[in-house]
Amino acid sequence: MKLVIVGGVAGGASAAARARRLSEDARIVLFERGPDLSFANCGLPYYIGGEITDRDKLLVAKPALLRDRFRLDLRPRTDVEAIDRARKVVRVRSLAEGRVYEETYDKLILATGAAPLRPPIPGIDLPGIHTLRSLGDTDRIKAAIDRGVARAVMVGAGFIGLELVENLVRRGVATTLLELQDQVLPPLDKEMTAPIAAALRAHGVALRLSESAEAFEPDGDGLAVRTKSGQRLPADLIILGIGVRPESGLAAAAGLAVGPRGGIQVDPHLRTSDPDIYAVGDVLEVPDYVTGAPTQVPLAGPANRQGRIAADHIFGRDSRYRGTQGTAILRIFEMAAAMTGISEKLLVRAGRPYQKVYVHPTQHAGYYPGARPMTIKLLFEPGRGTILGAQIVGEEGVETRIDVLAMALQARMTIFDLEEAELAYSPQFGSAKDAVNMAGFVAGGVARGDYAQVHVEDLPALVREPSMMLVDVRMRTEYDGGAIPGAVNIPIDELRERLDALPPGRRLIIYCQAGQRGYVATRLLRQLGHDAANLSGGYKMYRMSHPDR
Ligand code: FAD
Repeated sequence: MKLVIVGGVAGGASAAARARRLSEDARIVLFERGPDLSFANCGLPYYIGGEITDRDKLLVAKPALLRDRFRLDLRPRTDVEAIDRARKVVRVRSLAEGRVYEETYDKLILATGAAPLRPPIPGIDLPGIHTLRSLGDTDRIKAAIDRGVARAVMVGAGFIGLELVENLVRRGVATTLLELQDQVLPPLDKEMTAPIAAALRAHGVALRLSESAEAFEPDGDGLAVRTKSGQRLPADLIILGIGVRPESGLAAAAGLAVGPRGGIQVDPHLRTSDPDIYAVGDVLEVPDYVTGAPTQVPLAGPANRQGRIAADHIFGRDSRYRGTQGTAILRIFEMAAAMTGISEKLLVRAGRPYQKVYVHPTQHAGYYPGARPMTIKLLFEPGRGTILGAQIVGEEGVETRIDVLAMALQARMTIFDLEEAELAYSPQFGSAKDAVNMAGFVAGGVARGDYAQVHVEDLPALVREPSMMLVDVRMRTEYDGGAIPGAVNIPIDELRERLDALPPGRRLIIYCQAGQRGYVATRLLRQLGHDAANLSGGYKMYRMSHPDR
């Protein structure tokens, strides 16, 4: 068996190593256009920022190891230019020598990844405008900062954009962040990103939402960005992080099936429309794990796992890819933001019924020093309660909770399973009722009809109902510090004594700071015959949804 792999980083290197573990006899040739194989794309921003100091550490598996331990035939600086499927050969160009030659294959794996978008904006090719994908890109950006960069403009507030912003700030660079959408981190729902936007601003980032770059121009020794709103932002360094496009040109030219957004189409074994050619990683169109619809999700975990699966299948195992659920996490200064599964905005777009809850538990027991709240948004199927998606933002403990929820989602568990999840607890690490249990309890209560809830976005319609009364059950000091307009304050511990303030027949919308006291008050009032509903996530959610008020 001669296995040829195109692309030598996450998916390609993973496939090659797995192939060798499955077959000592196979001849495995790994072509990579760039000089570096098997490097850690995900670590690049932290080398620029100086947290990772040793560049060598970014090479996950060094060429010597790939050669000596896995007996791979490595061909860096070699571009695969064409596939002749009839003859089962690839035409390759050695970029070092300029030599063009052919290589035969029995099986071929395409792991060509996705390239950063560079839209045809005037001036986009000026020197000083960077994208970040390779170690070479990293060296160029880092060298510019080392030479002394006072001002930078980052275009795009997605995962890579925010990671770069954090590291630019760390290097003392005054940074402006432009984002076309009206929120940072567009894969998350907008209200969940408010604390991230606040953290960016608190660290001095000039955040410009609903703003885009219209043109890049020379400006003295540096550059300037002209924006849609007519501003001119001088910058010594500009980085684009506005998304990626699958590098599927090679596949398309060879007549392999490619989806409308450029992702190579594969079967569950990751075989393309040619059974001798497989594809893995960012270049793929994959099924969304929740909806089953085709999607493209550029993440390292899926790319690595897909590399294993393709190699497995080539060497006779029945491995299958389950789909991508988009589990991702980001650190931005002292905050972390994470998600798994589908977002609310995509559920709305898909017209799929769902329910949601917000909770703000702490990462460990509240009585133990250092307890910090996080916000969990849980999306689930009405009725059965199957988990559809989760998003978390907070300072501590975000990574453990999103991983538990990601596994629960993959196992097609329900919110009722979350109520029963038995998770590790001692005061330093969790709570007897863990954050994940809390999300399950609240969602389970809603699903069972134990209490009614409303959401912040329901309030404008509710306040127009003459019978509606908005009741803030927090302490008076909390209420005085800021409340939802129109709310009357009846602290929860005075509620039983002040029931006469709640005339019968009124529709009561109850809220507290985080939702829990509101829940207790709602239960109390419903048992007394009132039509009461709790505002999910409480005043905190109101503030996250209206950060500018
Ligand atoms: P790649 O790793 O991009 O490798 C494809 C390789 O194929 C490239 O090196 C390219 O040169 C080569 N190639 C393409 N065409 C040819 C050709 N014709 N001939 C020869 N070689 C070719 N994901 C996470 O999950 N978490 C993170 O924290 C995270 N952080 C990231 C940070 C940065 C800065 C970047 C750029 C990405 C990050 N990612 C992260 C995404 C993750 O790195 C990718 O999803 C993953 O690398 C995809 O693997 P891949 O093998 O499909 O493609």
